[in-house]
Amino acid sequence: MTAALNMFPLPLKTEEERLTAVERYDILDTPPEPAFDRIATLVRLIFGVETSIVSLIDAHRQWYKASEGTPLKEVPIGETFCRYAMPGTDAMIVPDASQDERFCDSPHVKADHGVRFYASMPLTTEDGHNIGTICAIDSQPRQFSVRELEIFRELARIVMSEMELRRLATTDGLTGVSTRRAFKEDAEKYVALARRHRSQLSAITFDIDRFKAINDTYGHAAGDVVLKAMARAVEPILRQSDIFGRLGGEEFGVILPDADASAAMAVAEKLRHALLELRFPGSRPALLVSASFGVASFDPGADDYDSLMLKADEALYEAKRTGRNRSVPWSGATVATTKQVERRRVLKAGKLVFSDRRAVIDCTVRALWENGAEVQLSSSSDVPDDVTLEIPSGNFKWDARVAIRRPNSLELAFG
Ligand code: GH3
Ligand code: MG
Ligand code: MG
Repeated sequence: MTAALNMFPLPLKTEEERLTAVERYDILDTPPEPAFDRIATLVRLIFGVETSIVSLIDAHRQWYKASEGTPLKEVPIGETFCRYAMPGTDAMIVPDASQDERFCDSPHVKADHGVRFYASMPLTTEDGHNIGTICAIDSQPRQFSVRELEIFRELARIVMSEMELRRLATTDGLTGVSTRRAFKEDAEKYVALARRHRSQLSAITFDIDRFKAINDTYGHAAGDVVLKAMARAVEPILRQSDIFGRLGGEEFGVILPDADASAAMAVAEKLRHALLELRFPGSRPALLVSASFGVASFDPGADDYDSLMLKADEALYEAKRTGRNRSVPWSGATVATTKQVERRRVLKAGKLVFSDRRAVIDCTVRALWENGAEVQLSSSSDVPDDVTLEIPSGNFKWDARVAIRRPNSLELAFG
């Protein structure tokens, strides 16, 4: 099987197509999940190695969906060993990195207790894209037996089937409500109907306030209980024909057919009060939750699903900004809005170029609009305010100014 693959290699896929495949699984930056944690545990136990990783690789980093034996959550692509495994169709085994000219100068090898053994197996989609890797790492040199190699390949296949299951799932495993993908599919049908019949339609997005603090104070398991309880509290308030979905970690969406903006605001307020009333007996100090809500209604002349949701998101952001635990209707008045509404979610490889082209930093472009972009990068601290953003796959190049700076992302204004 492997020999046949090697004799007739799959056509080389472009990096752009590969990133489209990564995007399809929609798993980057999602919280830990037991299924992937277990595979990381198995890799460590079966092979008796110190460190194991289940990772996805986007344009600028190797991001860990699960890991054991390392405090890291992601590594810039230039530092990873896995980039050498990514073009391949089989495992890359490095018996002793200190004796391998590709790796011997790496700080990860030179460090005390540094990396010696490194095994990396690409995670390959059915259509032949490598979207990430599983890794087994140890500070002692060693080898994999033929049998261990076979097990390693099977574990990579299990990771891929788990990812495939998630991609096809219509209900979220934790809360039982629609997944983002199912929500979007159903919502797009309603949006098409509303456009055809010129009927009303509104969207609500909401996000739990200070959820990170809830996790930090009461633990991740308690956070999960809160998410489940919230979903249970919301459902009885909605109508059968409403769509309710989990859009991200602690962010939810509702589509209300036949509801105008004021009806949708009333629903949002009802939901907000229902969440305030949630109690968690036994929690000390008593655990209370609130959420912020953004409400937007569909404009048949101007909106599609994405722009409707962006309007709701923008109102949600306003609710956060103005104090949380409140519902805010979208007001078309803000300048940011026109920018946001045309915003396209993308996943493209980009480069930030500055200092007369002497410095180049890899980044992943996550959103694009007419006069700006949002990019993710391993660290924004070395990036000056004026940069050039290049997207090699599209032959694009813009001079830009940093409008918003976060530790791992930048909003750029083209100018
Ligand atoms: P804000 O009021 O601005 O929304 O603050 P926040 O702390 O809620 O904001 P942020 O979005 O930064 O944090 C969300 C946290 O939710 C981070 C993440 O660890 C946690 N989270 C996401 N999904 C899950 C999950 O499935 N279970 C648990 N327990 N936590 C999750
Ligand atoms: Mg939140
Ligand atoms: Mg959030």
